[in-house]
Amino acid sequence: MFRPRSSLSLALLAGALLSSACTPAADSGSDVIVLAYQSDLGRYDRKIVRLETADDLIALNGSVAEVIGNAEFKIDEDTETIDDLIVKKGGSVKLDLKEIDGVFVPADFHSLNMVTAYYNFERASLFFKDLGVNPNLFGKRKLYYFPKLTIAGEELKDNAMYVSALDGFAVLPFDELQTLPLAINMGVMGHEYTHAVIDYLVTGADPYSGINSPTYSSNEAVNVFSSLHEGIADFMGSAIACDGDYKHCDPRFMDMSLPSELSSDRDLSKVHCLSSAAQSGFNQDVTAFANAGLNYEVGTVLASSLWRTLSIVGHTEENWMTLATGLYIALQADSGYGIMGLVKEEIAAGNQGGFIKTDATHLTMKNALNAIVEGVKDNSNLKKALCSVFYDRFHLADRSLSQCPASIEPQSDCSSKATSGGAL
Ligand SMILES: [Zn+2]
Repeated sequence: MFRPRSSLSLALLAGALLSSACTPAADSGSDVIVLAYQSDLGRYDRKIVRLETADDLIALNGSVAEVIGNAEFKIDEDTETIDDLIVKKGGSVKLDLKEIDGVFVPADFHSLNMVTAYYNFERASLFFKDLGVNPNLFGKRKLYYFPKLTIAGEELKDNAMYVSALDGFAVLPFDELQTLPLAINMGVMGHEYTHAVIDYLVTGADPYSGINSPTYSSNEAVNVFSSLHEGIADFMGSAIACDGDYKHCDPRFMDMSLPSELSSDRDLSKVHCLSSAAQSGFNQDVTAFANAGLNYEVGTVLASSLWRTLSIVGHTEENWMTLATGLYIALQADSGYGIMGLVKEEIAAGNQGGFIKTDATHLTMKNALNAIVEGVKDNSNLKKALCSVFYDRFHLADRSLSQCPASIEPQSDCSSKATSGGAL
C-alpha cells in the first residue's frame, strides 16, 4: 500500500487454515458479519452485510477475488522471474463460520479478517463498476492472505500491496501495527484495488507496460506515472471508504491503521504543495525518486487537490462521482489528452535505442493534470475549482493548462503557506 507497489512479491500463509463448521450455499449472496466503519459510532464495528459475489463462502472464492493462504515468496539477488519469486503457491483457505439466524458469523479472527477483506474488495469492485469498469472484463484477482514475503533474507510484515508482477494482492501478517488490521480498513483495501484498476485501464495492453521502465519510456514518465498511481489510489480509496455515504468521507482513513506521523503525511484534507525537490526532480533516477518517497509526496499533492476541489464545490455524491468519473475517463482515454494516450506517445518516442532518457516527451505531470481536467465533464464549477487548485498546489503560475477555462485564478493555499512560512 503505502510503500513500493513496484515489483514486490508475496507470500506466506499464516494461521489462515481453520477448522470448518458449515457449508453455506451462496447462490444469490449471503449475509455475513464483517467489521465496517460506522460513521455514527466513529469506528469500525461488527455489521451484517450481504456478500453478493462470493460463490464459495468457506473458501472465499468469487467473481471479485480468490483468497489464497499458505503462500511464500522471496526476493533476493537471484530473483529474475516469477518462478524465482514463488517459493510456495499456497492454496484455498477455509473459514470457520457459524450460521446464526441466517447470518454467517466468523468464529475466529482470521475468518473475520478474511471475510472483511473480501467484502472491501467487493465494495471497490462495485464502485468501479459504477464508474464504467466492466467487472467481467476486469476479472478476479488472487488475494494472498498473510503470505510469507522475504526480501534479501528479511521477512516483510505490516503491509498490504498490489503486486503487478503477479497481478494479485497481498496482505502481510502484522507485527508492529497492532491497531486496525490493514485488511479491514476499507480505504486501504480500496487504495490497493485502485492500483490494479489503473494498471488494467492504462497498461493492460502489453506494449504499454513499458511505461514502468525508463528503458522504454523515460525517468520522468516512470516517476510521473507512479505518482499518479499513488495519488489516484488515495483519492479512490477515500471514495470507496465513503461506502455510499458521501457526507461522511474520511480524509484520514489511514489513521486507524498506521502510525500517526505516516498517516498525517497522507491526510487528504491538509494543504499539500509540490515541493521544490519534487518539482525539479521528476527526471531523476527512478530508484532515487522512489527512495525519497517522492511518488507518495506528489501523489498526496494530487489527492489533496481533489479533496480540496470537493471542499470548494461541496462533498455531495454527485460531485464525488463527477470527479471520480473524470479520473476514470482521463486514465483510459487513448486519444486527445488522455493518460493512456500520453503513455502510448511516450513509449513511441522513448523506445528508440534502449537507452535511458531523463525527460518525458509526453507523460509530464502537467500533461497528466490537463488530462484529468479534460476528463471532468458537464460540471463547470467543479472544473473551475479543480483548475484553481491545480494551479496553486502544483505551482502553475502561468495558468497554462489548456483544458482549463480562461481567467481561472489560483487558490492561495500554497502561496499563503509559503508567505507565512517565509515571514519573520
Ligand atoms: Zn499505493
